[in-house]
Amino acid sequence: MTETAETRPRISARLAGIAESATLAVDAKAKALKAAGRPVIGLGAGEPDFPTPSYIVDAAVAAAQDPVNHRYSPAGGLPVLKEAIAAKTLRDSGYEISPGSVLVTNGGKQAVFQAFASIVDPGDEVLLPSPYWTTYPEAITLAGGVPVAVFAGAERGYKVDVDLLEAARSNRTKVLVLCSPSNPTGAVYTPEETERIGRWALEHGIWVVTDEIYEHLVYGDAEFTPVLRVVPELADTTIVLNGVAKTYAMTGWRVGWLVGPTDVVKAATNFQSHLTSNVANVSQRAALAAVSGDLSAVADMRTAFDRRRRLVVDLLRGIDGVEVPEPKGAFYAYPSVEGLLGRTFRGRTPQTSAELAALVLEEVEVAVVPGEAFGPSGFLRLSYATSDENLTEAVGRMAELLG
Ligand code: PMP
Repeated sequence: MTETAETRPRISARLAGIAESATLAVDAKAKALKAAGRPVIGLGAGEPDFPTPSYIVDAAVAAAQDPVNHRYSPAGGLPVLKEAIAAKTLRDSGYEISPGSVLVTNGGKQAVFQAFASIVDPGDEVLLPSPYWTTYPEAITLAGGVPVAVFAGAERGYKVDVDLLEAARSNRTKVLVLCSPSNPTGAVYTPEETERIGRWALEHGIWVVTDEIYEHLVYGDAEFTPVLRVVPELADTTIVLNGVAKTYAMTGWRVGWLVGPTDVVKAATNFQSHLTSNVANVSQRAALAAVSGDLSAVADMRTAFDRRRRLVVDLLRGIDGVEVPEPKGAFYAYPSVEGLLGRTFRGRTPQTSAELAALVLEEVEVAVVPGEAFGPSGFLRLSYATSDENLTEAVGRMAELLG
């Protein structure tokens, strides 16, 4: 049958395939219930609960008053910000880059999308350690690529190794995604693990897209390892993703960046010149103050996150049927709840983590994100970027329901 105007799908196949961001959906549902007067506690969203440090806000206020910032600026980012990002990369990651290898994007999310759009062709396979952040498979698929999930469960601390990756490699494999510290699991790869995986990618000519947005949020003896510091030979086939959202409590300002080989950065900048043009200048000036300042504000936030991390893990471990490896970074706990599925709570018997998350929201008004958003069922993600009181109350309510 030939298509007519009536039978033609209204929404393109490309966009019809995209699901709403599950984490934002949980957050929106929790906020709506709260607005309706319900005492909901949201542990869904991945955003620091602190205000942006005042010296950063002050820089933005000054920028807003300067007419130079009222105009278009270079699509790929303010040159002064790119220089500051290069200096910050040397300070925090220990290797040199040129400002020309930086593209400033509208949040880290746009960097994720543009990274895959730059190097993935239809049919290319992208190895995606799972549980994965919910945006990666969508960005890979939109670029025409095929996400190949490589699952590592709680018993392995949610970390893949070269054997698992090698088993998933094919002659269509083009890219490997790394995200350490990890959203959603809080896992942090050691320097040795990072180097082994990096060398394996190098050996097989596989590109690496490494998301380092949680670089400053590591706890205890965990250490953030930039893959390019331990395997510098990967520089020509690696795209680094980063941004100010998590380090400086700047989720609403929408500034991220990617660092890559100059041909990739050029292609991605051309794309951005049509897509969005420059990131808002006021936000770029705020990001400039952030990355060129010191790291004392994030040190204070890290102390609070670390305390909350230990609190939430202790409380979760008190619930029979919940298994939670210690998260070493970011601000998420990722318990396995397989031991709870099939049990009956208040007359309901959840068989999946999505059903369990719905039960927890409806019965005790705590919003958590089910594992289905990040890979297989059987897990929940709890963000501990909220007050100690909220965490104690929220996990206490969960324990009462599930204990
Ligand atoms: N990467 C990871 C792993 C994230 O968790 C997030 C935020 N949830 C981002 C990138 C993007 O952050 P933003 O777009 O707010 O800069």
